[in-house]
Amino acid sequence: MEKDILIVGGGIGGLTAALALAQRGYKVRVLEAAPEFGAIGYGIQLGPNVFHMFERLGLSEAVLRVSIVPRALVMLDALDGHEVAVVPTGESFEARFKHHYIVLHRIDLHHVLLDACKALAAVELVPSTAAVSFEDMGERVRVYSKDGRTFEAAAVIGADGLGSAMRAQMLAEGAPNFIGYVAHRTIVPMEYVPAGVRRDDVVLWGGPGFHIVHYPLRQNTLFNIVAVFRTTTYAEKGDLAGHRAEVEKTYRDSQPAMKSLLAMMDLERRWAISDREPIRHWHRGRAVLLGDAAHPTIQSLAQGACMAIEDAVCLAELIHAAQGDFATAFRRYTSARLLRTARVQLESRALWPFYHAEGIARDVRNETTAQWSEKDMFRCLAWLYDGFALPSESEEIRRRVQAGSRV
Ligand SMILES: Cc1cc2nc3c(=O)[nH]c(=O)nc-3n(C[C@H](O)[C@H](O)[C@H](O)COP(=O)(O)OP(=O)(O)OC[C@H]3O[C@@H](n4cnc5c(N)ncnc54)[C@H](O)[C@@H]3O)c2cc1C
Repeated sequence: MEKDILIVGGGIGGLTAALALAQRGYKVRVLEAAPEFGAIGYGIQLGPNVFHMFERLGLSEAVLRVSIVPRALVMLDALDGHEVAVVPTGESFEARFKHHYIVLHRIDLHHVLLDACKALAAVELVPSTAAVSFEDMGERVRVYSKDGRTFEAAAVIGADGLGSAMRAQMLAEGAPNFIGYVAHRTIVPMEYVPAGVRRDDVVLWGGPGFHIVHYPLRQNTLFNIVAVFRTTTYAEKGDLAGHRAEVEKTYRDSQPAMKSLLAMMDLERRWAISDREPIRHWHRGRAVLLGDAAHPTIQSLAQGACMAIEDAVCLAELIHAAQGDFATAFRRYTSARLLRTARVQLESRALWPFYHAEGIARDVRNETTAQWSEKDMFRCLAWLYDGFALPSESEEIRRRVQAGSRV
C-alpha cells in the first residue's frame, strides 16, 4: 500500500491533517503558497468540541498552555449596552461539556501544530509552493505548482481555504458568496485598553448592521478586537481616511465603550465575509477537500477552524482504516462530516440577523433572550459543543451496545 499523501495548504486544517496522518505512519508533504508556514496575527476562539480532537493528537496540554479560558460569552446590545445573552464558560460549562472554551493567538495555535509536525520525520513542509491544479492518474495523483514543479503521491488533500484551487478544479462554480459585510481586526497591548472596557469575557456587541467582538489574549497582555459591518464600498479601493470615516458613520449610535475600541483599531486592512452553500461531494478520485475548502462558513459560531480540525482527524482515521482504498475512505469521511459542517454553515447564516437585528426585530430578540436560562443556552449548544464522535468511536459504541444487548 502507498503511504504518501500530499496536502495543499498549511493552515490549521492542513497542518492538523499532516500531523494526524503522520501519527498513523503516513509520509506527508504539505505544500503552502506563503513563503513561511504561519498564521495571520489575530485571535481565535475554540469551542470545547475541538478538545476531543486535540486529545487524539496529544495536543491538549500544549494548546491550553497558550490559551485563556474566558469567564463567559457575553452578547451586549450596541445601542443601549444591556446584556442580551450570557453563556457562562466557567465551572458549570466545563461540568456540562467536559472541556474548556478557549481563546488564543492564532500564531500560538499554529506553532503548537507546526512544532508537533516538525517533531515527526514523516512530515515535509514545503513553503512558497502555490498549487494550481492536480491530475488523477488512476493509481497516483500529481499536483502542479504555479512555478512549474510537479509533486506526486497516492492521494491529495485540498486544505487550501476559502479560495481553494483544488475545489475550483473539482467543481464548476463561481466565486464565494460575499454577504456584504467586512471585518477589520486589531490586537492592542492590554495597557492601552481603558479599564472600563477591559473584560475577561468574549464579548459581542451587536448593533443594526454592525458588531464588535473582543477578548483578551496571551495571559491578558493583549486585547483582540474585531469590528464587522455592512458596507457597499468593499469593491472600491479604500484608503485609511475613507475607512475611518465609514466606520465612524456606521458606529455613530453605538455605546461609548465601542467607540473607544474603534479608536484603537488599525483600519487599513479589510476582510470580506463570505461563505458558500453546503455541497454533498467533497472528493473526486484521489483528491478530497477539508476545512474551508469544503464548507466555508461565516464566523457567527466561531467554528470554522474547529470544523477544519475535526475534518482532519476524521479523514486521517478513515484513510488509515481503508488501507489504501481512498474512494471508500473519502466517501465515508464526507458522509461522516457533511451534516455537522452544513449545520454550522446554515446556523451561522441564521445567527447573522440575530446579531444585527434592528427595530422591532431587535426588541423581539431582546425580550426573547431575557427568558433564556443557562440550561437553555447549554441545550442549544449541545449539538456542537458535545463534539463529534469519530467513526471508530461510533463503531466501538455500536459494538458495545450490540454486545450488551446479547448478554
Ligand atoms: C473574522 C473571522 C473570524 C474568525 N474567527 C474564528 C474563530 O474564532 N474560531 C474558529 O474556529 N474559526 C474562526 N474563523 C474561521 C477560520 O479562520 C477558518 O474557518 C479556518 O482558518 C479554516 O482553516 P483552513 O485550514 O481550512 O483554511 P485556511 O486557514 O484558510 O488555510 C488555508 C491555507 O492554504 C494556503 N493556500 C491557499 N491556496 C493555496 C494554494 N493554491 N496552494 C498552496 N497553499 C494554498 C493558505 O496560504 C493558507 O495557509 C474566523 C474567520 C474570520 C474571517
